[in-house]
Amino acid sequence: MLCSRRGVQRKMKDGFLMERIDILGVGIDNVTMEEAVERAMELLTDGKRHYVVTPNAEILYECGRDAAVMEAVKNADLILPDGAGVVLASKILGTPLKEKVAGVEFAVNILPKLVEAKKKLYLLGSKPGIAERAAIKMRELAPGLEICGTHDGYFKDDTPVIEEINRSGADVLYVCLGAPRQEFWIRQNIESLCAGLCVGLGGTLDSITGEVKRAPKIFIKLNLEWFYRLIKQPSRLGRMMRLPKFLMQVFKYKRK
Ligand code: UDP
Repeated sequence: MLCSRRGVQRKMKDGFLMERIDILGVGIDNVTMEEAVERAMELLTDGKRHYVVTPNAEILYECGRDAAVMEAVKNADLILPDGAGVVLASKILGTPLKEKVAGVEFAVNILPKLVEAKKKLYLLGSKPGIAERAAIKMRELAPGLEICGTHDGYFKDDTPVIEEINRSGADVLYVCLGAPRQEFWIRQNIESLCAGLCVGLGGTLDSITGEVKRAPKIFIKLNLEWFYRLIKQPSRLGRMMRLPKFLMQVFKYKRK
């Protein structure tokens, strides 16, 4: 490991330097989408258990308020900047991230690599029926993709779900239970799971099926995806109020 002004750098097997940018005490991996996919695939090669998180500004704000959330996010092997708020924070702090790596896009972009590497994917989360529909869509997006099982996210007992995932022979598990429940779930169960890589992906299955529509491209381009989601789901207002609070924290952090 090397230390730089911007944060900690880790040297990967192929010599690539992974740099972590400190935002409110969480080291966010400074990677492009392509690099994120490459690193995730590399994590699948050593036979150990790894997990990826995709925190947005709301979750980073929660990390500062709840030590358990911080612990679950901070210990991930790959921490991707999901959202314009995180990228904006990195700029405010004078250590700009290369780009936003949205969880939903990461989840789709890695699929052809999973096909190439013959890795099996299991989808966990969302309302009954959504994961099955997402599986159909994903197979269309990445022909040859092996989705070895699906399960909705509304279960009480973890044990039978874990047994089913393990029986399926999954190499990769998408955990879409919403944040921070999914991060806690992964932390708690990772050692009982056979999958080498768990990825916490929030509402990704809803987006892939169109159950929850992603914002039109123009909103995404103008970094206003949050505004579109607010119009569509006004019930998110409470959660979204964390964004200005997050930015205030970032300014305070900068002055420290
Ligand atoms: N969810 C779930 N089990 C639960 C609560 C939520 O599977 O007990 C799912 C929910 O159906 C939705 C996702 O978790 O698909 C959360 O979506 P949201 O957009 O709120 O996620 P985030 O903003 O955390 O990415």
